[in-house]
Amino acid sequence: MADKFDVIVIGAGPGGYVAAIRAAQLGLKAACVEKWIGKEGNVVHGGTCLNVGCIPSKALLEASHKYVEAKHDFDDMGINAGDVTMDVKKMMARKDKIVKNLTGGISGLFKANGVTAIEGTGKVVSGKQVEVTDLDGNTTTYDADNIVIAAGSVPVEIPPTPLTEGLIVDSTGALEFQETPKRLGVIGAGVIGLELGSVWSRLGSEVTVLEAMDSFLPMVDTAIAKETQKLLKKQGLDIKLGARVTGSETNGDEVIVKYTDANGEQEMTFDKLIVCVGRRPYTKGVIADGVSVELDERGFIFVDDQCRTNVPGVYAIGDCVRGPMLAHKASEEGIMVADIIAGHKAEMNYDTIPNVIYTFPEVAWVGMTEQDAKAKGIEVKTGSFPFAASGRAMANNATEGSAKIIADAETDRILGMHIVGQHAGEMIAQGVIAMEFGSSAEDLALTCYAHPTMSEAVHEAALAVEGHAIHMA
Ligand code: FAD
Repeated sequence: MADKFDVIVIGAGPGGYVAAIRAAQLGLKAACVEKWIGKEGNVVHGGTCLNVGCIPSKALLEASHKYVEAKHDFDDMGINAGDVTMDVKKMMARKDKIVKNLTGGISGLFKANGVTAIEGTGKVVSGKQVEVTDLDGNTTTYDADNIVIAAGSVPVEIPPTPLTEGLIVDSTGALEFQETPKRLGVIGAGVIGLELGSVWSRLGSEVTVLEAMDSFLPMVDTAIAKETQKLLKKQGLDIKLGARVTGSETNGDEVIVKYTDANGEQEMTFDKLIVCVGRRPYTKGVIADGVSVELDERGFIFVDDQCRTNVPGVYAIGDCVRGPMLAHKASEEGIMVADIIAGHKAEMNYDTIPNVIYTFPEVAWVGMTEQDAKAKGIEVKTGSFPFAASGRAMANNATEGSAKIIADAETDRILGMHIVGQHAGEMIAQGVIAMEFGSSAEDLALTCYAHPTMSEAVHEAALAVEGHAIHMA
């Protein structure tokens, strides 16, 4: 007779492993089922985020940024770094080592917290049972009072550009190039496309990004998005908006991409093509026929605000349910669900989830854009501050970008914060906390910030809401 658990989590990505650890910390008997096979042929934890997402992409972004700094910016500071070169294979080996350390670390956290790690493919076979098929094909059925599905997502493929070994790849393939492609095409100017395009552009690729939409980063405040587009263009990213890919052909080591834009049919030839057109929920095989967990029209598991499915005792979290596909959103949902299962009151504020694009400079935002607010009929006042006027930004050689705060015109409550600038991803936490605590722009304006810091731009943007920025004429 297999063990019985208070909660079984299917999937050990940032949603699932966090849910399992929290449940165990709260005294529940918890297990987490995972099937991801790592590079060394064993089951690894961490899901998309640790294996082929957040962490490896940031390892490459950091290495490629340091390379650009050493090659082009050090001289300005009086540093003679000599002839700077990049060893792509070594950069990749470092990335793999970081991934291995982190994924291995989760197994340690499971042990330390008393979570039972089960290797294999999990399937909900009833509201209270999970069947696991192990690597040898043997099945075991476990009873659980509660089940959390955290099965994640996979990249979307599109018919005009079927993946072709080594030539047309998805984001996972783009993290494995062993040399810098000369001509690189990226389909999709979203977060992942811009990050991966930046990595390879910094290392010398001529990068063209083909984006079907006419607008650039429509989820970001227009002023910040425009500034970002200009900065990325200056770095050499050729971002073609309104370019709809219609087909592709491979010819030896090249790929020819056909697309249409305002001028009609076009084509371009690349040495590698990355398809980054979004991700879709991965729910295949997770729910047995006959179990009536509902999916929505796009294949996401249908859940309420507290991640309950329509089947009592079955929850779903992270990329396989509605909401932004972000690791921290998945983790917070994991914590909420574990708390609910343990009998606590818990909820999540979906209005204060931060977003970051780890380009250089970074783009980060939380809450509404000025355009969102106006479209909702909310009267707003805004304050902006450019990093060009920040002493710390000058010292850092990072004067590009600006910070913008959007506040309710009547109540002064902060509705959104949008930043493009060095360390924007760290600075945005101020906006998140301010909004979480229901702060006004004046609350930030009356707060004492350390000098000299990049964060002073947020302070000045808050002062600018009333037209009182100090360091701006
Ligand atoms: P996942 O991380 O996808 O984990 C799901 C897990 O479930 C997987 O391990 C899978 O093997 C397992 N699983 C699925 N079905 C079964 C089954 N039947 N049995 C057992 N196990 C199963 N997000 C950020 O917040 N910041 C970033 O900087 C960022 N960068 C990214 C960069 C890239 C290139 C990509 C691709 C994604 C990035 N993301 C980023 C998104 C982030 O990775 C996801 O939002 C996050 O991983 C979702 O977590 P999850 O737990 O819902 O799912």
